[in-house]
Amino acid sequence: MKIQAIRGVKDILPGEIEKWHWVENKANQIFSRYGFKEIRLPIFEKTKLFSRGLGETTDIVEKEMYTFDDRGSEKITLRPEGTASVVRAFIEHNMYTSQTVHKLYYLGPMFRYERPQAGRLRQFYQIGVEVMGTHDPSIDAEVMIMLMEFFNSLGLNQFELQINSLGCDKCRPQYEETLKQAIVNHLPNLCENCNKRYKKNPLRVLDCKVKRDMEITLCLPKITDHICSKCKIHFEEVNSLLKEIEIPYSINPKLVRGLDYYTHTAFEVTSCKLGAQNAICGGGRYNTLVEQFDGPTTPCFGFALGLERLISLIQFDNINNVYKNPDVFVVSLGEKAKSISFNLVHRLRSGGLSVERDYDGSSIKSQMRKANKSESRFALIIGENEIKSGKYQLKNMQDGTQSNITADYCVEEIKSLISNHAIEL
Ligand SMILES: [Zn+2]
Ligand SMILES: [Zn+2]
Repeated sequence: MKIQAIRGVKDILPGEIEKWHWVENKANQIFSRYGFKEIRLPIFEKTKLFSRGLGETTDIVEKEMYTFDDRGSEKITLRPEGTASVVRAFIEHNMYTSQTVHKLYYLGPMFRYERPQAGRLRQFYQIGVEVMGTHDPSIDAEVMIMLMEFFNSLGLNQFELQINSLGCDKCRPQYEETLKQAIVNHLPNLCENCNKRYKKNPLRVLDCKVKRDMEITLCLPKITDHICSKCKIHFEEVNSLLKEIEIPYSINPKLVRGLDYYTHTAFEVTSCKLGAQNAICGGGRYNTLVEQFDGPTTPCFGFALGLERLISLIQFDNINNVYKNPDVFVVSLGEKAKSISFNLVHRLRSGGLSVERDYDGSSIKSQMRKANKSESRFALIIGENEIKSGKYQLKNMQDGTQSNITADYCVEEIKSLISNHAIEL
C-alpha cells in the first residue's frame, strides 16, 4: 500500500530547498540589520487565540482553520498565521516590561484549509515581521523600506507597493456607516458574498474580487477622505517618509486587508507577474490587538509574506549551491583498504573537510565515476600498494593531475592544498 502526502501539502526536496535557504538567509541578514530578532513560535495554539484575534467573520476563522479536539478535549488549531501567536507570546512573557520597542520576525509553516484546485497549499510558509510598542509613523515607513530592500536583494522587479489608511477605532466606525449607506443602493448588483457581509464588515466589500463589484466599489466613498485628523497626520507622515527615501508606491483607497485587526496604515505588495491572486505581501498597523488579549496598550506594525509565491518569482540563475561539494572522495580498493578508509574518512571529516565515499563496494572505475559525479575537488585513492608504501594517491579532479601524499599527514596536506588554491583564486 502506497501512502501519499495529504492533499495541498508539498515536500521540498534537495535541489529546491537551496533556494529556500538562500531566501531565508537574505531575510535573516537584512532584517537583523534593521534590528529585528527571530521569535520561534509553536505550530498549534488554543483555537480561541485565532477566533478572537483574527475576527469571527474573517474567511480564515469562518472556513479555513484546521481545528481539532486534542486528547484532553481542548480545542486546538494549527496556526493559520503568525501575528496572533506573536501577540500571545509578547504578553505571556511580559516582553513589554524589558524595553519599549520590540522588533521581531518569524518564519515557518502555516495551515489553512484551502481548495487545492485553486493552486493554494494547505501547509504553506510565511515570513513575518512585527514591531511591538510604538505608534511612530517612521516605523510604518521603515518596515516597508526594509521589505523593499529585501525584495530588491532577491533580484525581484515588477512589483508594486500600495498603501492605504484604515483609520482608527474612532473614525472607522463612522466611515463604515457612511459606506454601508452607500452600498445599500448597489446591493442588487453586488455579489452574494458582498450582500452577506456588508452589514457586519462593509470594508470587505471594497476588496471583493468579482469584476462587476470591483467597478461598482470604485465610486463608493473613500476611507482616506473620512479619517480623523490624527489618522490623517499619521498617514501623511508615512507618505512623506516614503517619498524622502524615494520608495515608489501608490495609494489604493480600496486596500482593506482581510483581517479585522488592522488600523491606520495598511499595505500590500503586488507583482504583475502573478495572475488574479497577485499579492506577495501584506501588512499594516494593528494598535489594539495586544489590548484585546488583555495586554497593555501596545501599538504594532507588521507584515507577512508567503514564501512559495515569493520563491516562484525569483530568478535563481546566479545562486551558488549552499551545499558544499565534497573536498575529497575516498576511493578504496580491496578489503584492507576499505577498512582503513572508514577510519580515514572520519579523520578527514574531523579535520574539517567535507568527505564522501563509496558504500556499494564498486570497482575502482565505478568509484572514480562517482567521485566525478559528486564534483569533489580531490579523489584520494587507497589500494594494497598505497597501504604498503604509506603514500596515498591524490587526484585533482579539476585538472586531472595526480600526486602522492603521506598517509599520516594526509589531512594537513589536503587542507594546505585547498587553502593554497583558495589564495590563487
Ligand atoms: Zn482616526
Ligand atoms: Zn462582491
